[in-house]
Amino acid sequence: MLDIADSAPAAAAPSTDRWPDRHLLDIDQLSRAQLEQCLDLAVELREQRSRRSAPRLLADEIVGLAFCEPSTRTRVSFQLAATSLGAEVVDLPIEASSVTKGESLADTLRTLERTGVTIIVLRHPMSGAPYHAARSIGARIVNAGDGTHAHPTQALLDALTLREALGTLEGKVITIVGDIAHSRVARSNLHALSMLGASVRLAGPPAWVGPFASWPGVQIADRLEDAMAGADAVMTLRIQFERAAAGGVPTLREYASRWGITEERMRLARPGAPLLHPGPTNEGVEVTAALAAGPRSLIGTQVSNGVPIRMAALALLAP
Ligand code: ASP
Repeated sequence: MLDIADSAPAAAAPSTDRWPDRHLLDIDQLSRAQLEQCLDLAVELREQRSRRSAPRLLADEIVGLAFCEPSTRTRVSFQLAATSLGAEVVDLPIEASSVTKGESLADTLRTLERTGVTIIVLRHPMSGAPYHAARSIGARIVNAGDGTHAHPTQALLDALTLREALGTLEGKVITIVGDIAHSRVARSNLHALSMLGASVRLAGPPAWVGPFASWPGVQIADRLEDAMAGADAVMTLRIQFERAAAGGVPTLREYASRWGITEERMRLARPGAPLLHPGPTNEGVEVTAALAAGPRSLIGTQVSNGVPIRMAALALLAP
């Protein structure tokens, strides 16, 4: 059991049983109760962090950040999450590490482990790399995004953001728009949202949504307008050019005119329905700048929720 008690009333304390798995690789390894436990713990830790009284749950841990792809939000928030809970953090600059001399990923991570790192936060361009790392080394692995496959902590922070905006996800309709095929965010969200009782509609160029036709509980809309009609929330995604997504659309202008989220299209969703985007956004392509900065946008809240969600995930995984 983790000890997170401070002056907060005991009745409000979330369950603090550690997750049974040693690694966080994707959402599908969690039960609904474990997922909700993470959201509840994040709420508690967010409150404690705002009062500068976050418990030192990771005081005995050294967290290694091994990012083999660019990152702003995820890297910074894992760093702050770990230090807020009292961990030491080693940020390995992969571009200046022995990987550039030909060392394998497993050997590089093993080196981190031998220096005392107990939890490794890994981002990698190859789908499955964190699974390989989890089999190869003793430290705990947290998947911070692997290729097109999974981004579990993004899905957790999205679930928290949506739960707080909508009250519950049970029975809600969440529309996800854009480059689903290459998006690890979309895949992890499909698991999380359906686990929490939401139904998911997908819309985007056929080459990017077609592969999900058989995904349980997912509806694919041919027209963006059909996907938006009556939606409780809308999430749009960046085109993953670095993952060869460019072939899916003729031009960006055409993409924006057919699949870009505008004020007018948002009016088709339920009144007040929020807009989410995992960032970084390409304003004018997947969403207008005015909408991204406007009152319906939860993009900033998603970023802020990244720290407490990663605090909770690290705490629930710690040895
Ligand atoms: N930041 C998210 C990710 O790493 C989304 C994106 O890059 O489009 O997957």
